[in-house]
Amino acid sequence: MTYKTLKDFDLNGKTVLLRADLNVPVQDGKVTDTTRIDRVKPTIDYLRTQNCKVIILSHYGRPKGQENAEFSLSFLPPVLRDQWGVLVGFGTDSTEDIKLLENLRFNAGEEANDLEYAKTLASLGDIFVNDAFSAAHRAHASTQKITELMPSCAGLSMEAELIALTNALEAPKKPVVAIVGGAKISTKLSVLNNLVKKVDYLVLGGGMANTFLFAKGAPVGLSLCEKDMKEECLSIEQKAKDAGCEIILPVDRIAILEFKANADHEVIGIDTIADDQESVDIGPETIKNIEGILEQAKTVLWNGPMGVFEMKPFDNGTNALAKKVATLTKSGSLLSVAGGGDTVSALDNAGAVEDFSYISTAGGAFLEWIEGKELPGVIALQNAKAKAA
Ligand code: AMP
Repeated sequence: MTYKTLKDFDLNGKTVLLRADLNVPVQDGKVTDTTRIDRVKPTIDYLRTQNCKVIILSHYGRPKGQENAEFSLSFLPPVLRDQWGVLVGFGTDSTEDIKLLENLRFNAGEEANDLEYAKTLASLGDIFVNDAFSAAHRAHASTQKITELMPSCAGLSMEAELIALTNALEAPKKPVVAIVGGAKISTKLSVLNNLVKKVDYLVLGGGMANTFLFAKGAPVGLSLCEKDMKEECLSIEQKAKDAGCEIILPVDRIAILEFKANADHEVIGIDTIADDQESVDIGPETIKNIEGILEQAKTVLWNGPMGVFEMKPFDNGTNALAKKVATLTKSGSLLSVAGGGDTVSALDNAGAVEDFSYISTAGGAFLEWIEGKELPGVIALQNAKAKAA
């Protein structure tokens, strides 16, 4: 994959349009997680060393093409200043060298990928830098159309994400293990269908493993299970066989009668479960099995928890595997990439986030990547490079 990066341009004194994803979580007026802000800091720091003026473009929430005070980004400059250690103005009229524009989605042209709106944005700067991988699955004016109008490249955070995902899925060191958990198979059919073609082992946990076990004839009691997905499971299994990918299912599970934290629980096998029991986590034999596979692996891609990690102690399976991956990564034997949906909070709960090689904070874009889809924002950078060459 080739695209231009910051190092390909003489940026000195230029005005850079920086697409960031500052669609941060806010509760009672406070930003509750600054990860997305922190990820842009290396690019901001680099642009400052090049004496650039920076105009930051971002969306925030879903105002649907209308101005709406509820979705204004005006609260953010002081937070950016605190996180980045630099003054940030708001709007084009502000005097600071770094300014944040109002929510792009106040203009209907943004989501419509409108040429005229993209021209308006492009007229504000000399070079476009996209540092918002998490918005790259959308073909919007500030992620796609604008790249047709001006020199364009990836920012440092975008570059890091593309390198990590390429190393995990496009050109990985083998054996490659994908660990996929979470609630439902129906939301991850495309993910599973793509992964079986690319990985050596597909480890399944969470609610979706119940569905697979059911498809193969195991009883599931009251466990979360999509019984109408039986044919899809069998088809994925066949595709895996054809592609030489081994699907690893639980061999034991943790069953409860009452769905609550610290509920009485027991380890049960795959062949039996009481009608009123439900399975909420993988069992100790399963953990041991998967740990053995991880010890042989060179690359791990992880999406979704192995059990109901929000309720203790049913985060045990997720925690044990997360710690194993973290330890192997730290020892240098494994490249590990995780992301999508609840994965980051599940790994955070396990205390393992720091030791993974790369954690993606891009929900939808990460999933679309592992579904094998082309992301318009990434293709746009590649095309911009081709045009410039
Ligand atoms: P997803 O967004 O598809 O990755 O699903 C994440 C959710 O799956 C979490 O809220 C977990 O509590 C839930 N989950 C994982 N394992 C199970 C299970 N065995 N039974 C019910 N829910 C589960």
